[in-house]
Amino acid sequence: MISIVIPIYNEEENLDNLYNRLTAAAPSWNEDYEIVLVDDGSRDKSLTMMRVMAAKDSHVKVVKLSRNFGHQPAISAGIKVAKGDAIIIMDGDLQDPPEELYRFLDKWREGYEVVYAVRTKRKEGFFKKLAYSSFYRLLAWVSDIEIPLDSGDFCVMDRKVVNVLVEEMPEQIRFVRGMRAYAGFKQVGVTYERAERAAGEVKYTFKKLMKLALDGLFGFSSFPLRLATYMGFFISIPSFLVGIFFILHRIIGFKVFGHSPEETPGTATLAVGMYFLSGVILIILGILGEYIGRIYIEVKRRPFFVIDEVIEKKS
Ligand code: UDP
Ligand code: MG
Repeated sequence: MISIVIPIYNEEENLDNLYNRLTAAAPSWNEDYEIVLVDDGSRDKSLTMMRVMAAKDSHVKVVKLSRNFGHQPAISAGIKVAKGDAIIIMDGDLQDPPEELYRFLDKWREGYEVVYAVRTKRKEGFFKKLAYSSFYRLLAWVSDIEIPLDSGDFCVMDRKVVNVLVEEMPEQIRFVRGMRAYAGFKQVGVTYERAERAAGEVKYTFKKLMKLALDGLFGFSSFPLRLATYMGFFISIPSFLVGIFFILHRIIGFKVFGHSPEETPGTATLAVGMYFLSGVILIILGILGEYIGRIYIEVKRRPFFVIDEVIEKKS
């Protein structure tokens, strides 16, 4: 059996379409299936619509979270409940076309444990595209593991991989695409054209997107910490040389910018140096704080999602 996990947050405009297109594509999978819809605290008619679907169709299972936890926790809840031998993760706004799924499943049947989607075209604004592509490149450059470029959460994972994610990765801050890369196994990318959101507003606000990016960066790299060391060297070595220069200026008495040692004005240099250094120190404190905050979240061991109810047709 295969499971299709779809996080849903206020997708009333897309749900019927999503269900119809999935159901129409289902015969191409040649396998029994379940659709696991995770309601991430929707405030519109989504939950009511999903209840109706689950009541009519035993393929549909609805996992109702107790509030809005966010996309990544919602995915984590879905894969925990999913029972399939292969688990598909996709978005609920039809940006990931259900008609393409059989190609991913074919790769899985060939023996790949992770088949991730690589988007060839992104139909989004110039700046969003630029931001995404620079982020993925930065992450690939600084991170300790190999996170494939331009691949999001859309993927098929074998039961083995999902077990690792669910049972052996207890981290609170979930960056699923990174965790998937970390898990290892045989992975392969399949290209596809990412469609536009079919209807409704983007649910990822700028703030949520920033959070996701930072979770990826801080969760999968200690480069920011090392940055402090680099900056330290970068500033101390030239400062040391400048110091020697001024000592010689005093002792030998050569002129600097036409000034003899007695009349060298140092105020501007001092002020700029002080502000610059304070800025650098604050940035480094911020980076330390970022890691400490994350350690704090992790040690509290709070559940990163709370399931209120699992709704399915009793057969
Ligand atoms: N989503 C969610 N919880 C949230 C935000 C989004 O479950 O807090 C779901 C949303 O319903 C959609 C998917 O995550 O199915 C991706 O969201 P969206 O399309 O807004 O993000 P984008 O495609 O811009 O990355
Ligand atoms: Mg989307």
